[in-house]
Amino acid sequence: MRCDVVAVGSELLLGQIVDTNSSWIGEQLALVGIDSLFQTKVGDNLGRIVTALEQALERSDAVIVCGGLGPTQDDITRDAIAKVMGVDLELDEEVAARIERMFSSRGRRMSANNFRQAEVPVGARAIHDPQPGTAPGLICPIGDPDTGKVLYAVPGVPAEMREIVSKAILPDLQRRAGISATIVSRTLRTWGESESGLAERLAGRVAELDRTGNPTLAYLASGIEGIKVRLTAKGADTAEAEALLSAEEAEVRAILGDLVFGVDDETIEASVLALMRARGLTLGLAESLTGGMMGSRICDVPGASDVFRGSIVSYASDVKYSVLGVPEGPVVSAEAASAMASGARRVLGSDIGVAVTGVAGPDPQEGVEPGTVYVGLDLGPLGGDAGPEAFEVKLPGDRVLVRQFSVITAMTALRSRLLAAD
Ligand code: ATP
Ligand code: MG
Repeated sequence: MRCDVVAVGSELLLGQIVDTNSSWIGEQLALVGIDSLFQTKVGDNLGRIVTALEQALERSDAVIVCGGLGPTQDDITRDAIAKVMGVDLELDEEVAARIERMFSSRGRRMSANNFRQAEVPVGARAIHDPQPGTAPGLICPIGDPDTGKVLYAVPGVPAEMREIVSKAILPDLQRRAGISATIVSRTLRTWGESESGLAERLAGRVAELDRTGNPTLAYLASGIEGIKVRLTAKGADTAEAEALLSAEEAEVRAILGDLVFGVDDETIEASVLALMRARGLTLGLAESLTGGMMGSRICDVPGASDVFRGSIVSYASDVKYSVLGVPEGPVVSAEAASAMASGARRVLGSDIGVAVTGVAGPDPQEGVEPGTVYVGLDLGPLGGDAGPEAFEVKLPGDRVLVRQFSVITAMTALRSRLLAAD
C-alpha cells in the first residue's frame, strides 16, 4: 500500500509557513507501515491542484491532501477533488446543520460562504467523527469504491488535521491495506541531562530493544518542553500495544529516575504546580532574563491560581535593589539570585520563592558570558533553616533558547527540592 501526501497552499510555496503537516503525516504513515514515496506542495490554483492529485493517484493507491478546505475563495481543494472524480458538489445536510449549530452556539452569524464547507463531491463521504473544526475531512473513492483508489482530504489547520488523520484516516488506510497492527506511542519528558547523556544511560536498554524492534525508543530535543524520550509499541490490538508501552516505561523510568518530569503533554510547570498543590504550598517568582516567561508558562496551566501568587519582572538592576531588596552589587551572581528569591517570597507573600538572573546574550554583560544563569530558591520552612540557595548553570544556544532553558532549569530545580523534602 502506497500513500502520497499533497499539501495545498500558496503560502507553503512562498515560504510564509513551513509544511509541517506533510512531515507529520509522513511520520504517521511510516509508523503504521504504509509506504509514502512522494510528497507534493501545490499553490491555490484549481488546474495545478487537479494535476497534483492526478499524478499522485497515478503512482499511489491512496492520497492524503491537506489544506484548502476552508470557506474562503482561495479554498478550492474540494472543487479540485470533484474535478478529479468527474462529479459535482452536493450539500451534506448533516455537516451543514452541524456548522450552523457551531455558529449559533458562539452567537455568531453564519455567512453563505460557510456552507461551502458542507459541500461534498458526489460519491464522497464527509468524516463526521471526529470533526474538530468547521470543515470536515473527506473520504473520496476514485473508481470502484471497494477495489479502486482513495483520496482523503483534511483541513490545513494542524490540530484538526492531526485528529482526523489519526482517528479516521489511518484506521481506514490500515483496513484497506489489511494491516491489523495497532501502534501507540508515549513520550517521557526529561530535563537535567543532555541528549547524548540520555543516550549513554539508555544504551543498554536500546541494544536490548534493537533485538526485537518492538517497542522502539527515540529522542527529541524540544527546547522549553524538555528532551523527550518517545516510546512506540506495536501490538495486535490497543491493549497489547499499551501493555508493551507500560512495561517499557517502567524500564526507562528505572534508569532515568527523577530526570523524567512528565508524560506526553505534561509540562514541567504542570508537574511543579501539581506537586506544590498537593503540599498546600504557594509560589512567587522574581524574573530577570526570562522577563515574565516563567510566570506566563505557569499561567498556561489550568488551576494555577491555587499555587501561583505572582511574578516580579525585575529586569533593571535598580528594580532588583529597590523592590526585591537585593544588596547593591553585581546582579548576575549567586548572591543576587538568592536575594531575589527571598525578595519574591517576602513581597508576594508566598511559601516558596524562585528567581532567575543571567545573561541571555548575544553579548556578554558586566564581563559575564552569555548563557551564564543563576537560579535562586528560597524554600522557606520547607527548606528547614537552610535559608535561600543559588546555583550557576551554563546554558547553550541563542537568546531565545537561553531564556527558555532558564525557565525549565529553574522549574526542574524546584521540582527536585520538592521531591527531596518528602
Ligand atoms: P481553514 O478552514 O482554516 O481555511 P483550510 O483547510 O482551508 O482551513 P488552509 O486555509 O490551507 O486550510 O490553512 C489554514 C491554516 O493552517 C494556515 O494558515 C496554516 O497556519 C495552517 N496550515 C495549512 N497548511 C499547512 C501545512 N501544510 N503545514 C503546516 N500548517 C499548515
Ligand atoms: Mg483556508
